[in-house]
This record gives sequence, structure tokens and C-alpha cells, in this order.
Amino acid sequence: MSGLKLTNVKKSFGSVQVIKGVDLEIADKEFVVFVGPSGCGKSTLLRMIAGLEQISSGDLFIGDKRVNDIDPSQRGIAMVFQTYALYPHMTVRENMGFALKFAGAPKAEIEQRVAEAARILELGPLLDRRPGQLSGGQRQRVAIGRAIVRHPEVFLFDEPLSNLDAELRVHMRIEIARLHQELQTTIIYVTHDQVEAMTLADKIVVLRDGLIEQVGSPLELYDNPDNIFVAGFIGSPK
Ligand code: ADP
Ligand code: MG
Repeated sequence: MSGLKLTNVKKSFGSVQVIKGVDLEIADKEFVVFVGPSGCGKSTLLRMIAGLEQISSGDLFIGDKRVNDIDPSQRGIAMVFQTYALYPHMTVRENMGFALKFAGAPKAEIEQRVAEAARILELGPLLDRRPGQLSGGQRQRVAIGRAIVRHPEVFLFDEPLSNLDAELRVHMRIEIARLHQELQTTIIYVTHDQVEAMTLADKIVVLRDGLIEQVGSPLELYDNPDNIFVAGFIGSPK
């Protein structure tokens, strides 16, 4: 059971406030997409949810637990980065098992979880390759596999497909929708791509300059954007 709740969350770097008071509720198993211009604070929000960045003020709840000061590894969250961040010297199998090994999981459990992720992502034939021997799409699947093996309750994706070509993006978008169905987890997904936002989201959050501009289902935002800014991102032409 892992919904999330943010109340008046703010973040400053030095004297610069980049998140200016965000209130947001995300239901368990919901697929939420963050959109907004470059620099509006999407990654910073994700990183605070993941625990990679300290929250300056406000509260973050995962389930009914306040996690502001909880270690990232204890939050039940896994993040997939735009750059994949795979270890070049490790095989696919080792990349996927690394976090579990680091956490001291038994070998048999690591093997079982890696096998499960490989099945879900159809990576079985590639387990002994290194990242340098994989295509972009295959690397992205390994990055997702690394998250899956941790059995997170919440997945965070930061522009996971932006380094892929258009055709592969369409394919991976369908894969991610299927993953959400199969794993039944909460997903927060950042993208620049309007089609990704419209097709994947249960709920879209439009951010602008450290604040939420509008929240709604894809249809609500498309049909009834509050203003020209939102319309510019996802709305129908007004
Ligand atoms: P987005 O992901 O929407 O493009 P970011 O969350 O990366 O935006 O950045 C939001 C703002 O915070 C930007 O102005 C960025 O320069 C600033 N910022 C992000 N991380 C840091 C940091 N570690 N130190 C200082 N400023 C940062
Ligand atoms: Mg970003």
C-alpha cells in the first residue's frame, strides 16, 4: 500500500528556492506524470521523493509514514534515470543484482529476483553481456530491471525514454504501460513528451517554476486547461 502525499514541500539550493510549496496526493497504484519546462523542478521533486535530496520544508508521506528523514533505501522506492547509470564493467546480471548484493541479500534470492526481472523485460538472452554490447533500448530495459529486482512499491522515472529514437520510444512506452499493469505499483514519471503523458498517465501534474500549475486526468487537462501555459503543454488549441 503506497500512495504518497506532499504537503507544502519546498526546496532551496543556497538562497535560491526552486520548489516553492507543492501539495500533491498520489493514490496507491496510480500512474502520475510530471510535465513542465526544463528547470521547473521536476527532477528535484523526484529526487526529494527518492530521498536523494533533503526537503527544505514541508512533509512527505509514503503510505502513512512521514519519510522526510528516512534513508532512501528504506523508502520502498526505486528510481530509473535518464542516463541509465549502468556499471560498464559489470554484466547485465551483475548490474541488476548489484543493489541486492550490496544490501546483503542471499545469493539464491538475488538469482531468483534477477531471473524474474529478466523474464518480465525479456532480457534472458542478454544476461551475460556488458552494457557496451547492448542497444539503447536494451540498456534502458536493464536500468528498469535494476529497479524491478528491488520490489519497490513506488517507481520513479526521470525522462527514461528521452535518449531513445522515436520508434524505440513508442515500443518502450507500451512496455512501461504493460509493466504498470503487471507489477501493480505506484509510478511517478517525468517526461517532455506529450504523447507519453497523455497515454501513460492516470493523472498529469503540470509544473511551472517550482509550483503546480494544474493537476488532472489527461482528458480533463486536454479539454479544460486552466490557462494558455497548460494548454501549451497538453491542452487542445484554444
Ligand atoms: P527539471 O528537472 O524540471 O528540468 P530540475 O529539478 O533539474 O528541473 O532543476 C530545477 C532548478 O533547480 C533549476 O533551476 C536547477 O538549476 C536548480 N538545481 C537543481 N539541482 C541543483 C543543485 N544541486 N544545486 C543548485 N541548483 C540546482
Ligand atoms: Mg530534469
